[in-house]
Amino acid sequence: MTVDKIDEKKKIIKTIKIDVDKCNGCRACEVICSAFHAAPKYSSNNPARSRIRIIRDPLRDIYVPVYAGEYTVAECAGRDKYTIDGKEYDECSFCRASCPSRDEFKEPDSGLPLKCDMCEGEEEPLCVKWCLHDALILEEREEEMEEEVEQEDLEIGLESLADKYGMDKIMDAVVRMNEKD
Ligand code: SF4
Ligand code: SF4
Repeated sequence: MTVDKIDEKKKIIKTIKIDVDKCNGCRACEVICSAFHAAPKYSSNNPARSRIRIIRDPLRDIYVPVYAGEYTVAECAGRDKYTIDGKEYDECSFCRASCPSRDEFKEPDSGLPLKCDMCEGEEEPLCVKWCLHDALILEEREEEMEEEVEQEDLEIGLESLADKYGMDKIMDAVVRMNEKD
């Protein structure tokens, strides 16, 4: 989810609706996402750097596109298996968190968390554009602003990252990200 401010009181929330039944595991979304975020842009592609990952189990015909959400410092306690239309999905299959218990959504070199930015600067998220099977659909809705809460969330997120990785590493990563642009 990303947020665009329209005016002082309203914002647009962008999310990607996922139709698991339409995904065939082609992984075009992973390719374009990692290429778009490469430095320089489109110079390489590596699914490990993608902010959308396909949780795959071809033998059971299971493909779940999941795009990266918030970073979390600790593993959650409420895991469950899901059975939908006779298919059993493993714990964490639908989870969007960059979490200590799995490898997805971590920058391979630094280990820093990756988060979907809705392809900032593009008219449309590139994974949505490249998914020829309509498994990914962009949805937008308007909401009232809650500026104080957003600022608080940002501070909590930065504090957790600084605790885990140290402020120097975070600053290095920010400098590197700015160099990409
Ligand atoms: S591009 Fe679409 S069909 Fe292909 S893996 Fe991604 S979500 Fe699935
Ligand atoms: S919207 Fe952009 S950044 Fe987010 S997962 Fe799709 S391609 Fe990656």
